[in-house]
Amino acid sequence: MIAVTLLGTGSPMPDPNRAGPATLVSAGDEHYLVDAGRSVMMRMAAAGVGAPNLSAVVLTHLHSDHITDLNDVITTRWVMTFEPTPLTIVGPVGTRAAVDHLLEFLGPDISYRIAHHDDLDHPPPVEVIEVADGPVDLPGAVTITCAPTDHRPVEPSIGYHFDHDGVAVVAAGDTVPCEGLDRLSAGADALVHTVIRKDVIEQIPVQRMRDTLDYHSSPAEAGQTAARAGVGTLVLTHYVPAIPPGDPGDDWRALAAAHFDGRVEIGDDLHRIEVTP
Ligand SMILES: [Zn+2]
Repeated sequence: MIAVTLLGTGSPMPDPNRAGPATLVSAGDEHYLVDAGRSVMMRMAAAGVGAPNLSAVVLTHLHSDHITDLNDVITTRWVMTFEPTPLTIVGPVGTRAAVDHLLEFLGPDISYRIAHHDDLDHPPPVEVIEVADGPVDLPGAVTITCAPTDHRPVEPSIGYHFDHDGVAVVAAGDTVPCEGLDRLSAGADALVHTVIRKDVIEQIPVQRMRDTLDYHSSPAEAGQTAARAGVGTLVLTHYVPAIPPGDPGDDWRALAAAHFDGRVEIGDDLHRIEVTP
């Protein structure tokens, strides 16, 4: 069984009820954090997983809403572990430079804490692995592969395939339908896909909103991808516009279900889905 927890189902628009994009993929005692959006550490605390428990952070792309709180993950991991415990961060080319800049940004804090705590004598140990297409070389019982997605002009962007004990879960990130995602998703048990309501956004007379139409998938497009891949469960997240509190998102579900006859999951932050073969 692989458990998928929607830590943050929001978007760049601040929302009191939905944290920024982040999803937890858990198998046994291994926990993989897919993206690290706004308030991710609060949602991880609510899910009962601390920064020391993370096996790795895997980034789909370097858009700000997906990495705003990566610095918080780095710092919290560092101060909550009592011997050097490297945090592995997997991401597309460019991730190493972004993390180096984050560590530079954290420089004053790092120096304060090392000066203040006798038992803290090292900066945050971080290992960055940049990937593009193929296996991701990590220890552990979960096998991870990746493939390029299409979120242009954001390049590169990556989707991830998690395999554990005969169960496969794919995290697509932000993408339009594409060959890489089809290849990654083929036969998976669950596909976690970010979506936006293009039918709603195209009615908004604000060009900056309409600009987002060409590099995201709609629920219908996510449903079509899920159907082509033959996945069992489609998990929608990253709701733009935000689904109001208490609204089960039936209209979103119907748009996907018009193209996909498997299970469609939509939820609030902390919605947890157990995926079995
Ligand atoms: Zn994006």
